[in-house]
Amino acid sequence: MLGDRSVTVFYDEVMLGHNPEVDLPFLPSRVEKRVRNILKELDFKWSYPEHPGRLSAIKELLDDEPIPGLQFRAGPHASYDQLGRVHTTAYLDHIFSLEGKPAWLDSDTTAVSPNSIKAATSAAGNAIAAVECVVKGESQSAFAIVRPPGHHADPVRARGFCLFNNVAVAAAHAQAKLGCERILIVDWDAHHGNGTQDIFWADPDVLFFDTHCAAPFYPGSGDLYEIGGGLGEGYNINVPLPEDAGDIAFEKAFREILVPAADHFKPDLVLISAGFDPHRNDMALNLTYDGFAMLTSIVQEIADKHCEGRLAFVLEGGYNLKSLSRGVHTVLQILAGGEPPEQLVECGLREVDEAAEFHRDAFTDD
Ligand SMILES: [Zn+2]
Repeated sequence: MLGDRSVTVFYDEVMLGHNPEVDLPFLPSRVEKRVRNILKELDFKWSYPEHPGRLSAIKELLDDEPIPGLQFRAGPHASYDQLGRVHTTAYLDHIFSLEGKPAWLDSDTTAVSPNSIKAATSAAGNAIAAVECVVKGESQSAFAIVRPPGHHADPVRARGFCLFNNVAVAAAHAQAKLGCERILIVDWDAHHGNGTQDIFWADPDVLFFDTHCAAPFYPGSGDLYEIGGGLGEGYNINVPLPEDAGDIAFEKAFREILVPAADHFKPDLVLISAGFDPHRNDMALNLTYDGFAMLTSIVQEIADKHCEGRLAFVLEGGYNLKSLSRGVHTVLQILAGGEPPEQLVECGLREVDEAAEFHRDAFTDD
């Protein structure tokens, strides 16, 4: 029943300070010149899609429609050493040198504003706090509502709106400091989590499972045959999907690939890179709120079965404010003990069944 399970939401307004604007004077660089040229060729006014309004929309809906059993906390900023478990020192030194400045970081749209570095260390720190919370048993599950997102950031590069790989930093912290030995990371964002894949590519203690819209959709990686390497071979699972795949395909991928993989791997912590851009009103793919509810209940069952329910979510993408906020709300309801839908059906099937019943008599002779 709703309210039966304890859930902690990690959130800090500091993350609203990350607000890159295209009109700011940028640091001179080759990258900036290239971005400027790309922008010049677009015939509409481009604004940064990964903006503070994303988090505000989620927070407002949670305030307007409170969920029983939910509590809010703010985690500390991630330290240089905590970030250094997954990023190189050269990369971190470069990022920290940008504190207080606006700059383009990468030609694929990643930029910073003067308060972005603080927001990014808060995002990674809140992901760590969410993991500490569930591993220490302070609540059954946790959701770090953070930005900038993380799953495209690799050890040496900011990409796709991501500065630090929040979920990877949290997983590495759980390995280094919390005694976790086998961590399952599930990434259901519409985009492939290339950064997370790279970071744990050769690590057999982290099983990475990723459903995403297949290449050439951004970032273009996530092929079926990318299965990890070295000791980590077999511990990287990609499920590339066509752009209109929806609830039924996702549920099948989770039940027929993820569940048996998790049964084999036996994780002692489950982390979710939760993007809401696979919602039908967002960038790609065709999930509904019922779909998000079902996927949440499946990962909850995995965590209940293998690791006393230790389950932490970290926000990734989601750019339609309505489906982003409602999607997060839907997930949190399931985490708080709400009932998932009994069965997912193709959108409209239920209505057609009812209409068929309504019209049936009209065309029979008796
Ligand atoms: Zn995404």
